[in-house]
Amino acid sequence: MADRSRKANLDDRRRKQSAEQNSNLKSLIRQFCLDRGADLVGFAPVERWDEAGEVPPDFRPRAIWPPARTIIVMGMEMPLPIVETTPSILHKELYDTSNRELDQLAYNLTRYLNRMGHASFFFPRDGYGSLKALRENNLAAFSHVMAGKYAGLGTIGASHNLLTPEFGPRVRLVSVFTSASLPPDPTIAEELCIQCAACARCCPKKAISMRKDRLIADYDKTACLEMHEELTARRCYPCGICSKVCPVGQDRLLYKQKGIVNKYLREAEALAKNPDDPEYKSWSHLRKYGISKPKNTKD
Ligand code: SF4
Ligand code: SF4
Repeated sequence: MADRSRKANLDDRRRKQSAEQNSNLKSLIRQFCLDRGADLVGFAPVERWDEAGEVPPDFRPRAIWPPARTIIVMGMEMPLPIVETTPSILHKELYDTSNRELDQLAYNLTRYLNRMGHASFFFPRDGYGSLKALRENNLAAFSHVMAGKYAGLGTIGASHNLLTPEFGPRVRLVSVFTSASLPPDPTIAEELCIQCAACARCCPKKAISMRKDRLIADYDKTACLEMHEELTARRCYPCGICSKVCPVGQDRLLYKQKGIVNKYLREAEALAKNPDDPEYKSWSHLRKYGISKPKNTKD
């Protein structure tokens, strides 16, 4: 009897020690990411994919890499004033820079964890090599958006983007898979999407169609891909207008851009009537240089 109670005490102490070590490791990882430029960091146990059942089995972390126990998702801000200029050379350069930074961060975190004895693996921020590859099969092998949701960074909006409290959808993501079992972050229970339909109304390809019966809109991937093909030809990808116009995100307070959605909603029509419309002059100016003009544009 005394032996059994001693063993139970020992097991309990070991469990507490292990929980403490995992919590310390989580703090170290968070700090590592923040020190190297991440704006957001979240931790998702791989079981969340199975519990939610939203992601097809082959696309879940354990199917991709069986030793995975935790997915660490990192996000970097896409500053709103640059996103507002899309399509522009500024926006393209921001996209390329954030991609490089995210991949570098994920690569460094993977090696940091490996050095500590926690086998790790990372999935780069984009899961495709070319738009031709997307034409053939318009799907990534792993979704950072769903990983972001399960790691508590945000909720999925009508536009299919991850909406975060900090930056709305103006954030880029990357994920590290690790064999370490780390304490999970809570998911966000309340939907952040207010179903304002600005994303659907401003999409130049009408790729987003709001639905009455559910929050997530219908999304025409091929129409969106066409937009990316056009912009890639002009060297000013990606589109990102649905990210620009989304009213969600505290970044709007910082940039004093709350309540600007009506300006976005009027933009396409106003510029079609008058490309020099003074209300949009600064964005039009930045779109005029460094990229080629759309087809059918008169000089
Ligand atoms: S623009 Fe409006 S409807 Fe679209 S994702 Fe953002 S909050 Fe939701
Ligand atoms: S990225 Fe552009 S084309 Fe694609 S859904 Fe968003 S607004 Fe539409």
